[in-house]
Amino acid sequence: NLRSRGAFKLIEIDQKYHFLRSGAVCIDCGAAPGGWSEDPAAPSAAITGTAGGGDSEKYRIFAMDLLPMAGIDGVQFFQRDFTQPESIALLKNALKGKPVNTIVSDMAPSFSGTHSIDHLRTMNLCEDVLGLAGQVLAPGGTMVCKFLVGGSEQEFRQELRNHFNKVNIYKPKASRKESSESYFVCLGKKRSP
Ligand code: SAM
Repeated sequence: NLRSRGAFKLIEIDQKYHFLRSGAVCIDCGAAPGGWSEDPAAPSAAITGTAGGGDSEKYRIFAMDLLPMAGIDGVQFFQRDFTQPESIALLKNALKGKPVNTIVSDMAPSFSGTHSIDHLRTMNLCEDVLGLAGQVLAPGGTMVCKFLVGGSEQEFRQELRNHFNKVNIYKPKASRKESSESYFVCLGKKRSP
């Protein structure tokens, strides 16, 4: 009864890099239909590794998508375009100053069919996610971000290294072989200079 097979990708990434933990505050970008916000074993736990809600802090996961998403316990969802500054303002407002431990993005743009263009579109989305990380991700925090392999990822990886102690590129087995999608897994957010 998984919302999406995509959940397995996050589970696999975590099995390799071990960044999900209980009680963490997370942002899920491109969250619909909700596989990353909802774990098969424990509702709303794929990201945090624990059941969400249930304590004074109602929300631990803040999720955004262009498409609607059915409600998940402990998840505050915004149907918005992540690339719009107002959407970022909305997210920051919802956090009420809470430091964020993990930002994950499984966002995929609508594909043009021309690979170089689609590659660059995914890199632009990654830049936007990094922009949010620079504003709200706590020191030591993790950022996971999908992109399509296509040429400029090594340059962007260098940029990511300015912000994180370790920057990996990882393609989970659950990701189709024919797909050029892969993930930046950025560990240990550095303190802002
Ligand atoms: N991780 C999800 C899961 O397991 O259920 C699947 C995410 S799906 C592969 C990618 C999502 O990114 C789509 O639902 C799409 O609407 C969303 N998306 C793409 N561009 C976006 C944007 N600019 N703002 C918000 N969401 C976006």
